[in-house]
Amino acid sequence: MAATRPAKRPARAAKPKGKSPARKAHAKPAARSAAKAMAKASLKRPKAAAKVIAKRPGKPAKPLTKAAAKAAAKGQAKAARPARRHVIVGAGTAGINAIRTLRQLGGTGEITLVAAERPYSRMVLPYYLDGSIGAAHAGTASPTHLERWGVKALFGRRAAGLDTAAGKLKLDNGDEVPYDDLLIATGSSAARPPVPGADAPGVHSFWTLADAEGLSRAIAPNSHVVMVGAGFIAFTILGGIMQRAGRVTIVEVASRILPRMIDDAGAALVGQWLQAKGVTLRAGTTLQSIQSKGGKPSLALAGGGTLDCDAVVMATGIRPNLEWLKGSPVQVNHGIVVDDRLRSSVPNVYAAGDVAEAKNLIGGAREVHAIEPTAMDHGRVVGANMAGKDVRYAGSLLMNIVSVAGLDIASFGAWDDPQAEVITGHAPARHAYRKYLFRGERLVGAILVSPNAETWSGNDLGMLKGLVQAGRPLGAWKAWLRQNPFDIKKPYLAGRTVSALLPHTTLGQASPSPRE
Ligand SMILES: Cc1cc2nc3c(=O)[nH]c(=O)nc-3n(C[C@H](O)[C@H](O)[C@H](O)COP(=O)(O)OP(=O)(O)OC[C@H]3O[C@@H](n4cnc5c(N)ncnc54)[C@H](O)[C@@H]3O)c2cc1C
Repeated sequence: MAATRPAKRPARAAKPKGKSPARKAHAKPAARSAAKAMAKASLKRPKAAAKVIAKRPGKPAKPLTKAAAKAAAKGQAKAARPARRHVIVGAGTAGINAIRTLRQLGGTGEITLVAAERPYSRMVLPYYLDGSIGAAHAGTASPTHLERWGVKALFGRRAAGLDTAAGKLKLDNGDEVPYDDLLIATGSSAARPPVPGADAPGVHSFWTLADAEGLSRAIAPNSHVVMVGAGFIAFTILGGIMQRAGRVTIVEVASRILPRMIDDAGAALVGQWLQAKGVTLRAGTTLQSIQSKGGKPSLALAGGGTLDCDAVVMATGIRPNLEWLKGSPVQVNHGIVVDDRLRSSVPNVYAAGDVAEAKNLIGGAREVHAIEPTAMDHGRVVGANMAGKDVRYAGSLLMNIVSVAGLDIASFGAWDDPQAEVITGHAPARHAYRKYLFRGERLVGAILVSPNAETWSGNDLGMLKGLVQAGRPLGAWKAWLRQNPFDIKKPYLAGRTVSALLPHTTLGQASPSPRE
């Protein structure tokens, strides 16, 4: 049967009992090289197509004629051969990880990178804002890296269209770049609400390095900064703004802060924490317009009232950068719809990161997860597939983790699943909250709020992520959590979470260091 499905991994039968290659690589140094070889083998396609053709269910496979077998073998060889011209659009986390992996796994084709900006990590921009790092530290792939990887880089250029029939990417200057396979990793952009004055002077977004530099210049000591929006991105920069500005006000249209990250009880604790640190919260407040008053922004709010300030930060959501694909046959829903190998509806066009609508680890539905770990894993899977391997994507775990003014706030997986059985732990005096969402005996989602001065806060973050990711039935430990909601360590250890997670690797093999 395996011969009728060339993509199936042949090495499974040869796998040593009990231990996967990756697990073995972690187990004993002496066994590492063998485990490595095993892992490599498990990624290889079958060498030659066996002489049968794919059969319909219930019908026996027909032997091929000699000529047809030769043609099929030729076709197989062609399919298994890595493409020669790879084009990567976007130099963010997904794009750069794809390139690194492509080369690490031996891909030898030409690589052209087309990107509007030079490579850097958006995730570290909050640390630039709070002064922990300089702008240069945000960079990811240096010119030396790109040269070592043999990448032809076209920076400052935008993709403007795609001709999938001719295999050509069209650029904003009219040039065309031919490809054998292509990765779309164009990420997202900050979206501003359609209110008058949303682009007025003194109004900032915080998504790009240029945005971060602009906002950094605009915040003077003793200034009043108004943040419009109280979601995850707002909270990644809130601590930095609180450190640098004299006064901070948050305006949020929903009835509470963090409406798409944590629940009401968690949000109430976070709100109390922030108010105690001097932040003014105006949830349930709609921004109507922004005027300029003496060169500074003045916000008009629904129901009357104005807010004068020195700077406004619009943290009002993001949208994937996909307008340039209009008219192409690449299927787009919320993001580019991709299969388990992250291929779009056009098989030699992949998508990764914020633009990809890919498998969710919990439940398996396709979703856009605009977070760094997903962009990294997507990029690596696409890089491996472009290098001629056959790697499936297991699915991404939704997680949002942020720390503001000493308070850890996090949610994992299906944290708002309305069908789940819920267990909570609430210790308002300690500003601590836990929420566990169960389907049967499996933990499918969780919320955590706790001061990061408590040593168990960071530990619980890691363990909660592991428990949701491992998805093991917790048996009697579920009842234990009901009685002891702040003691995650025992279910984590007893549930053998580490041994459940260790064999799982993104590429089906131990990874080289990112510096290689
Ligand atoms: C302030 C901030 C804090 C964050 N904090 C976290 C965090 O703590 N944890 C977390 O998980 N995630 C965080 N994120 C989200 C995370 O940074 C993104 O999910 C991640 O960057 C997505 O990677 P990507 O490669 O898909 O896209 P991006 O990193 O956005 O890269 C997109 C690339 O495509 C280029 N591009 C765009 N359009 C075109 C075009 N038409 N033609 C050519 N090139 C184009 C861009 O210039 C860029 O090089 C944060 C984001 C921000 C802004």
